[in-house]
Amino acid sequence: MTIEFTLTKRQEELRSAIGSLARNVIRPQSLGWDRAHGIPEEFLLRFTQMAASMGGTAGAWGVQGLGATGEEASESAEKKKKSGGAMVSTVVAAEELATGDPALLLCLPGPGLGGPPVRGSGTPEQRERFFSVFKDMSAGLKWGAYALTEPGAGSDVAGIRTSCRKEGREWVLNGRKCYITNGARASWNVVFATIDPSLGRAGHRAFVVEKGTPGFSVGKIEDKMGLRASETAELVLEDCRVPEENLLGGEEKYQTKEGFLTAMKTFDNTRPLVAAMAIGIGRAAYEHAVDFVKERYVLSRPIPRYAAIAERLARVGRDLAAARILTLRAAWLADREIANAKEASMAKAAGGQAAIKACMEAIEICGAHGAVAEDQQLLEKWFRDIKVYDIFEGTGQIQRIVISKRLMPDLRSF
Ligand SMILES: Cc1cc2nc3c(=O)[nH]c(=O)nc-3n(C[C@H](O)[C@H](O)[C@H](O)COP(=O)(O)OP(=O)(O)OC[C@H]3O[C@@H](n4cnc5c(N)ncnc54)[C@H](O)[C@@H]3O)c2cc1C
Repeated sequence: MTIEFTLTKRQEELRSAIGSLARNVIRPQSLGWDRAHGIPEEFLLRFTQMAASMGGTAGAWGVQGLGATGEEASESAEKKKKSGGAMVSTVVAAEELATGDPALLLCLPGPGLGGPPVRGSGTPEQRERFFSVFKDMSAGLKWGAYALTEPGAGSDVAGIRTSCRKEGREWVLNGRKCYITNGARASWNVVFATIDPSLGRAGHRAFVVEKGTPGFSVGKIEDKMGLRASETAELVLEDCRVPEENLLGGEEKYQTKEGFLTAMKTFDNTRPLVAAMAIGIGRAAYEHAVDFVKERYVLSRPIPRYAAIAERLARVGRDLAAARILTLRAAWLADREIANAKEASMAKAAGGQAAIKACMEAIEICGAHGAVAEDQQLLEKWFRDIKVYDIFEGTGQIQRIVISKRLMPDLRSF
């Protein structure tokens, strides 16, 4: 198989423009947003408008899974060839933006993680209905969200307990969802529920639950260690009555394991994106440490110590570069609609680990300087932000299980 990693001229321009914006405009505000537990909507609106004016649409920035609507994300084969692929552009843009502030990507208005299941499993009528919400944000920003995790079911996705039962032309949902990004502010959440937990994956159904639906409410908003500017919410469903038209894909879709696949297919697209964001944070920490060492160590410290530190940084740079190649590969496959579950998990596992190591090494190498918070010195913030990249969208252990199951399909020990 040929895999082409050369970025198109357009993608190179995108990378350069977003990288410059990330360093000069976004990064200086990042610590303030972290402390305020949010990014002002005014900034998000300006940012979205600027993206549109530079590239025409949010999709042109490559923020496919986050900002773009359905049509923007589904390119024609010819357009894909010219643009270099929407997913490759997405991961390039995501890495650059994350060097400025990783929470910004999660805060961008648009369907967010709710986009892929609606795009992939919704009927044409559902896609039109739910994506049209984001077409005009002049009266206020709008978000979508993806609600799968429950207090007893995070990694064990098949074990969700939120129930759904059909009553007349409505579905009645009961349960709790937790740690849902943008769940409270979302105009709609894609909520996963089960008709019968004993059926496992075959019992799963995915619903679009709109804000204001009777029986739907928001529980607590989490106070997190990192990514504090991003909203993470608990959602409560108490006899929540959802119209049958909001069952994603319609009932015939669920005669197979499609409900579960809807949840899993989302990850094939979003894991490379999450990997790219992690690599962006790791790269920011690495570059900061390299500059620090160059400025402070070369002339003032004995050579052996400098060499040992340079060697540690070389390992960090190598691991980040290797993770980036895995990420581009997973994105490249997604752009060609080639199955990429294993590659997406490899990218996510490698990106998270490489970036965690980068942040830890950078703090250690910079000594006390690494542990203090300043507007342009964000090592302690990146150190807090990075850990979650090895947790959400499947922990590192879960990625390794996905990979081993594909390497050894007959292995039954998990
Ligand atoms: C900031 C943030 C945002 C999030 N956003 C969303 C969102 O928008 N939507 C959503 O649905 N969820 C979201 N999540 C939830 C996230 O996907 C889960 O936290 C994640 O899947 C892990 O689940 P858990 O927390 O229940 O941990 P657990 O599944 O309980 O895992 C705990 C530990 O056990 C390990 N483990 C679990 N199973 C195995 C196994 N079989 N073998 C070996 N080790 C195992 C894990 O690797 C981990 O180390 C978010 C979480 C965070 C922190």
